[in-house]
Amino acid sequence: MLNSIINLSQDLIKIPSISPLDLGCQDILSARLKNIGFTIENIKINNTNNLWAYRGTGKTLTFVGHTDVVPAGNIKKWKTPPFKPTMINGYLFGRGAADMKGSISSMIIAIESFVKKYSSYDGRISVLFTSDEESRAYDGTKKVVQILRNRKEKIHYCLVGEPTSNKILGDCIKNGRRGSLSAIVKIYGIQGHIAYPEFAENPIHKSFLFIKNLLNLELDSGNFYFQPSELQIFYISAGNMNITNMIPNFIKIGFNIRYNPEIKKEVICSKIKYFLKKNNLKNKISWFFSGDPFITSSGKLLNIVMDSIIKYSKISPILSTSGGTSDGRFFSLMNSEILELGPVNKTIHKINECVKIQDLYILSKIYKNILKNLFL
Ligand SMILES: [Zn+2]
Repeated sequence: MLNSIINLSQDLIKIPSISPLDLGCQDILSARLKNIGFTIENIKINNTNNLWAYRGTGKTLTFVGHTDVVPAGNIKKWKTPPFKPTMINGYLFGRGAADMKGSISSMIIAIESFVKKYSSYDGRISVLFTSDEESRAYDGTKKVVQILRNRKEKIHYCLVGEPTSNKILGDCIKNGRRGSLSAIVKIYGIQGHIAYPEFAENPIHKSFLFIKNLLNLELDSGNFYFQPSELQIFYISAGNMNITNMIPNFIKIGFNIRYNPEIKKEVICSKIKYFLKKNNLKNKISWFFSGDPFITSSGKLLNIVMDSIIKYSKISPILSTSGGTSDGRFFSLMNSEILELGPVNKTIHKINECVKIQDLYILSKIYKNILKNLFL
């Protein structure tokens, strides 16, 4: 089992599948699943490859993951080449080792081992792997879930293999995520000579009260599962730094709100619009919505995942909804029980990304145990 996980992880890491490219990773996975009787559907949408595969009937567990990776960054700073998987002192180095080619390998090996031993289990095992999770997340899981919903497919349980552990494998599982909403607001002034401000209107000066309102914005105080909703400014741009004698005619401000189920996104939008109006700012605002919050506060999958972690990782996990959103959000539309469990996330997206090889082995045992407890 351990060697199979290492070999498969290495085969995947060797492929420089920088988001949204898959470059053949999913072919490797489809071939293995086909070999154990899975029905394979390759759903290509624009540049994104998606693999939807399933075996069995009845209550469905979907393993969710992505075959794309973020770019390597400065290759000279890597101790080992990012796309040449290398094992050092029990760790496997390479881009995607932890996020998330390692956990995909653990999933596949767990499924293979389970299906070979218990070929007529009671339920349906499926996988949904995409190649655009790290980029726009537009032509991947989101669209495939839409296709599945149109077909009236049911997914009862959804297990995302994103690296959720903090220090020890299984010390943290995500049982929900905050929603994410972004906006770019363009605030207009009147362009003019900087020495004659009486004939102009400075949009930078005008926007300061609005920015102050954003910084003081209190949306809610969170709840048992979620931290308070929070706004962060990610972009400000105005004027031309080479032209020192001109008042510009607009400023652009970008901000993002991570919010919990205590507040609706419509309420957030109306608060922001109110600030713009209160400060008398001529503006144009564009909203970008990437997902509502979701939570799995109880259920069969949660109990089984918790028990499996305790059994194999000898640790009691904490439940968390912190961090960025994930493809799990799309399954909330299918009313699935959604949980995320994967390797330690300390090095993800960094130079020298790595994963403890033993963790992939334990993770695979946990995934297999989840299958046993759901379907036997
Ligand atoms: Zn990931």
